[in-house]
Amino acid sequence: MREAAYLALGSNLGDRLGYLRHALQRLKDTPGIRLCNLSSVYETDPVGFVEQATFLNMVAAIETSLSPHELLKATQRIELTLYRRRNIRWGPRTLDIDILLYGNLKLKEQQLTVPHPRMVERAFVLIPLCELVPNFVIPGTRETVQERMEHVEGKEGVQLCPTISLAAEFGLTGS
Ligand code: ATP
Ligand code: CA
Ligand code: CA
Repeated sequence: MREAAYLALGSNLGDRLGYLRHALQRLKDTPGIRLCNLSSVYETDPVGFVEQATFLNMVAAIETSLSPHELLKATQRIELTLYRRRNIRWGPRTLDIDILLYGNLKLKEQQLTVPHPRMVERAFVLIPLCELVPNFVIPGTRETVQERMEHVEGKEGVQLCPTISLAAEFGLTGS
C-alpha cells in the first residue's frame, strides 16, 4: 500500500542548492520512494538559533511503500551521506530532512512524531507545503494547510527564489 508523504528539506551551509539537488536525487533513487512533486525553493531567515546563514527550504511530495520508521531511516541515511553534522540543535546544517506528513497518520514517539510537531508554527514549511496540498486538513487539527499558513507568523522572512525550478529539473509537473 502506497502512502502520500511530504518531506521538508533545508540547507544553510556550503552549496545549499547542490545539497537539495543531491538529496532529491538520493530520494528518487531509494527503492520504495517515488518523487511526485516539488515545491518552489524559498530563502529563509533562520529561526531558533539566529546567528547563522539563511536557509534554502522546500517541500517534496512523495509516494512511498516504506513504513514511517523505514522512511525516517532512509532520510537520515541521506542526511549522513551529505556530511550533516549534528552539533547545534536548530543550528547550521548541510541538509535537514523532516517528515511533515505521512498520509493521515498521527504518531507520537520520541524518535518520530507525525505530523511534524513544529510544522504548524513554521512559515518556511507551510508556504512551500501550501503550493502542493493547500486543502489538506492537518491531522490532529481542524485547519487546512492553507488556513494554517495564512495564520502563521514570520512569512516576511520567507522569500521565493523565482529562478529555481527543481520540479522542472527533475521532470515533475511543478505547481
Ligand atoms: P526540528 O525537528 O525542530 O525541525 P531538527 O530538524 O534540527 O529540529 P534533528 O536534529 O534533525 O532536529 O532531529 C532530531 C530527532 O528528531 C531525529 O533524530 C528524529 O528521530 C526526531 N524526529 C521526530 N519526529 C521527526 C519527524 N517527523 N521527522 C524527522 N525527524 C523526527
Ligand atoms: Ca528540521
Ligand atoms: Ca530534522
